[in-house]
Amino acid sequence: MALIQRLQDLAPTMAAWRRDLHAHPETAFEEHRTAALVAERLTSFGCEVHTGLAGTGVVGVLRAGAGLAGAGQAGGSGRSIGLRADMDALPITEANTFAHGSRHPGRMHACGHDGHTTMLLGAAQYLAETRRFDGTVVLIFQPAEENEGGGRVMVQEGLFERFPVQAVYGLHNWPGLAEGRFAVREGPMMAGCDQFEIELRGRGCHAAMAEEGIDPIVAGSALVQALQTITSRNIAAADAAVVSVTQFHGGETWNVIPASVVLRGSLRYFRNEVRDTIHRRLHSLCDGVASAHGAQAELRLIPGYPPTVNSAAEADIAAAAMAAVVGADRVDTHLPPTMGAEDFAYMLQARPGAYGWIGNGPGTGGCLLHNPRYDFNDAVLAIGASYWATLVERVLAA
Ligand SMILES: [Zn+2]
Ligand SMILES: [Zn+2]
Repeated sequence: MALIQRLQDLAPTMAAWRRDLHAHPETAFEEHRTAALVAERLTSFGCEVHTGLAGTGVVGVLRAGAGLAGAGQAGGSGRSIGLRADMDALPITEANTFAHGSRHPGRMHACGHDGHTTMLLGAAQYLAETRRFDGTVVLIFQPAEENEGGGRVMVQEGLFERFPVQAVYGLHNWPGLAEGRFAVREGPMMAGCDQFEIELRGRGCHAAMAEEGIDPIVAGSALVQALQTITSRNIAAADAAVVSVTQFHGGETWNVIPASVVLRGSLRYFRNEVRDTIHRRLHSLCDGVASAHGAQAELRLIPGYPPTVNSAAEADIAAAAMAAVVGADRVDTHLPPTMGAEDFAYMLQARPGAYGWIGNGPGTGGCLLHNPRYDFNDAVLAIGASYWATLVERVLAA
């Protein structure tokens, strides 16, 4: 491994920052303490700092290079790169009892965004000290990656117009991928997702005289079964897709058939054509199954994140920078994509770039993402920060 020595020296400091963030988790768009800490550190390193984008978002800018005309000017070469970390925690009650466990009941850094924020801060400190690059580095600390689309809001609020970059890169820790390994691939890394809600209306009646009503529980049960045929019968076997019904609400007591039930769920896809097929089949199965039972269905589709798709050139650049840090044999470029979703997708829709994974070690013993016993692995802080710094020094080579 060829970690940057300065970042290895900074590892204990980064671990302290990371544990402090872990102890003070803040959820979507409420990352006030976190954003203030990030802005304060970036300022202390000598970065130009911009706050308030998407509420609690923070952007740091570093410029270096021969033709540098001073603050406010593009970095010497005119080349620029965006690096993104997410800062938000989840509404989960932490089960860990270690000293840096969450001090905010019901909130927890269970996705490692404390580690992501720290790795980018470490890289920022190193890059500000050394400035061995020629161009502009835009350090993007985004709020609300979980569910609320803070990345989308930053893009909508003009992130890339205010801070133009030629490419943007993201990094997420990955439990189950060994410490000291990376993964990145061209094309889809993470799926697109939408939510759906179906209200099925029948006619309530006495449980003993079902012939008097229209039972939405029976119709809903048939619908749940029918929805399984979307991925098995309507989507080509080579196309990945998921349709999961995750909620089925109805009824209040033993002897009453309710008038209606509500089903909710999530769908996942990589290609927009697949999403369109799922939407179309959801509509026709809802209508068809409901009418077969004499009931009525109302379907509501709630758009979620689009697929996270890496551009080929930038995926290669990311893989090469990862290989420079840990060795090519520790970078997986042929991993299967996951059906999870990620709002870095919106940044990749706006600019070419690549989103990769850094190994967090074994995903056992509760260390999977979103688990109440999860913790980011401090041993990989210097590895991830070395990747960021190496990526900058290669893309913006002086
Ligand atoms: Zn997450
Ligand atoms: Zn995450």
